[in-house]
Amino acid sequence: MSAVDNPPVTLDTPEARRYNRIRRVLSVADFVLGLALLLVLLVTGWTGSLRDLALRGAGEYYPLAVFFYLLMLMLISKAIGAGLDYYGFQLEHRYHLSNQKLRSWLWDELKGWLVGLIVATLLVEVLYYTIRQSPQHWWLIAWVVFIVLFIFFAQIAPIVFLPLFYKFEPLENERLKERLLHLSQRAGTRVRGVYEWKLSEKSKKANAALTGLGATRRIILADTLLQNYSDDEIEAVLAHELGHDVLRHILKSIGVQAVVTFVGFWAASTVLHYAVDQRHMFETLSDFANLPLLVLVSTVLSFLLMPVLNAYSRFNERQADRYCFQSITSVGPFISSMNKLADQNLAERAPSKWVEWFFHSHPAISRRVEAAEAWGRK
Ligand SMILES: [Zn+2]
Repeated sequence: MSAVDNPPVTLDTPEARRYNRIRRVLSVADFVLGLALLLVLLVTGWTGSLRDLALRGAGEYYPLAVFFYLLMLMLISKAIGAGLDYYGFQLEHRYHLSNQKLRSWLWDELKGWLVGLIVATLLVEVLYYTIRQSPQHWWLIAWVVFIVLFIFFAQIAPIVFLPLFYKFEPLENERLKERLLHLSQRAGTRVRGVYEWKLSEKSKKANAALTGLGATRRIILADTLLQNYSDDEIEAVLAHELGHDVLRHILKSIGVQAVVTFVGFWAASTVLHYAVDQRHMFETLSDFANLPLLVLVSTVLSFLLMPVLNAYSRFNERQADRYCFQSITSVGPFISSMNKLADQNLAERAPSKWVEWFFHSHPAISRRVEAAEAWGRK
């Protein structure tokens, strides 16, 4: 690493650096806590006690017992992580990045937990049903079912999950709609619409995204962005999001996810067989007290793969940026929108190289601006 590779740290205020450092510590602490819970359950054998309790509560009816077990696991996990969640809520206020009242935040936490419970119940019931029906090939069958569910969830996310937390309205601004139409015609895009995302009720940050699949594919633009950015800047943001669509990034990410999940299921099956056949930790594969072991395998795997998946995401972001540079008449508005976003969101413009490598799904803003400037000089 040379001094040339590393942008000068003076790009970031001490405030931005401190805020981002605390957020990283929080996410690492959250990860460690989750890992510790899984290990404690497995090492102490408490997972077996929870299973017995679940079976008794369900009158030995297996699918209901699986649900009770999962419910207890998710309650314990939420209780352990609640302190960190609350700290995260306070942090946003301390740095003047949030408008959300405690009540509204608690309500969101509850909704988030319930959505998590519903999704997890579906996945875990499918998982243990498959293990019971096909002890040999369960991991292959479950893998296929999980991919189908992923695609289903990606499709319904913008119309089911996101509206649980935010209001959305079709974009009203005629001038912007005109510009979008122009951009989309060039792109031959399949995007079905642009929506205003009422983020300002809860946050002072700005954001934009491409979400959904097929009929639900849409660009969402935070009202905090629409209020404070010029039309040229918003057009640059739109062009970047259209780039994700034209380059089919959502579909490609699902493909990558499918490969990762395949490896995950294979590893889970291997570890589970070892635990049952060699170590006799569980009597059968379908003993759902082994759920913490399966979660542990997927947690460790996601941790190991995080730098790779983030590198892939940054690659896509650079591609979408290049698409944007091609589509707009001048890169000036892209650069100013990046700088505004960094200020508004208290983002680190130039994080250290290893922080970017491990944690960031987007290239550092300093690099994105540099790339735009280089493009502008061409
Ligand atoms: Zn992007």
